[in-house]
Amino acid sequence: MEAMLYEKLGSDVVKCNLCGWRCTIQPGKRGVCAVRENRDGTLYTLVYGKAASYAVDPIEKKPLYHFHPGTTAFSIATMGCNFKCIFCDNWSISQEREISGEDLPPERIVSMAKAMGCSSVSYTYTEPTIFFEYAYDTAKIAHREGLHNTFVTNGYMTPEAIDTIDGYLDAATVDFKGSGDPEFYKIFCKITNFEPVYQALAEMKRKKIFIEITNLIVTGGGDAKEPFIKLVRWIHDELGDETPFHILRFFPSYKYDGQGPPPVSKLEEFWQLAKDMGMKYVYLGNVMGHKYENTYCPHCGKLVIDRAGFEVMSVRLKGRNCEYCGGEINVVV
Ligand code: SF4
Repeated sequence: MEAMLYEKLGSDVVKCNLCGWRCTIQPGKRGVCAVRENRDGTLYTLVYGKAASYAVDPIEKKPLYHFHPGTTAFSIATMGCNFKCIFCDNWSISQEREISGEDLPPERIVSMAKAMGCSSVSYTYTEPTIFFEYAYDTAKIAHREGLHNTFVTNGYMTPEAIDTIDGYLDAATVDFKGSGDPEFYKIFCKITNFEPVYQALAEMKRKKIFIEITNLIVTGGGDAKEPFIKLVRWIHDELGDETPFHILRFFPSYKYDGQGPPPVSKLEEFWQLAKDMGMKYVYLGNVMGHKYENTYCPHCGKLVIDRAGFEVMSVRLKGRNCEYCGGEINVVV
């Protein structure tokens, strides 16, 4: 299928404007993501309709803690990614250059999602930006059928991509690793220019897409305090203190073990730092059963959403308000 969001530069060379790489692609070649190919001056997506993975997940697993809590999301991915993280959890589909997948057209995704009682479709596991056309067509049908759409993304999207999907994308989990430290991204993810992520987040906010942020604390390079403080300050000032912020514990994966996960005490220290800097909803992730998986009302401090892992145990809200004090909670219900 012909790709969206590219331009022809002449002599059969094309430029893809979908993600922050903005690849210039020679005839017969593919972009960095390995799933968009220039064939005689026309750019094609190679993964349209080819699901490499799909499953029904609690929306809490994305993680989206403040967007229709307690519901499920039909989750879908294709092969490929625009990042090369050496600790990727989903490396077998994100880093494999051979394209494979089950034929699953957008209409079928939506009908399966509905049949399984999901209230949203989530484009996830690998980077959804690189299977944009597939996500876009599915998202349009999903909306028509009364389902929400959410991206789990590294945020390396162009403003044009966000502008195109605006109106269909309801929420996004934007994943940072190593607190967005440029040196960390260079060494661990092969990303030399991280600026597009901040631009994309600002654009999502302008478009009123509901945003939650994660930050993976990676042992041995992505666990320093200074970039963490810088990131929290940026989120606080640019996105707002009500933005749900998840501090995730790294576990060894793919080519990197970092000599094990960071201690929980380090994550708790970061949690406290983010709270002290004024963030209202801060969570620890990948620490099953921890009290910081829960939502506490920022007005009265009472427990309003009780979670155990990805399961919601109880909700003490009346609409968007705390059942105890009536204070408003930044949650979409
Ligand atoms: S999606 Fe990104 S990595 Fe892939 S071809 Fe386009 S600009 Fe390059």
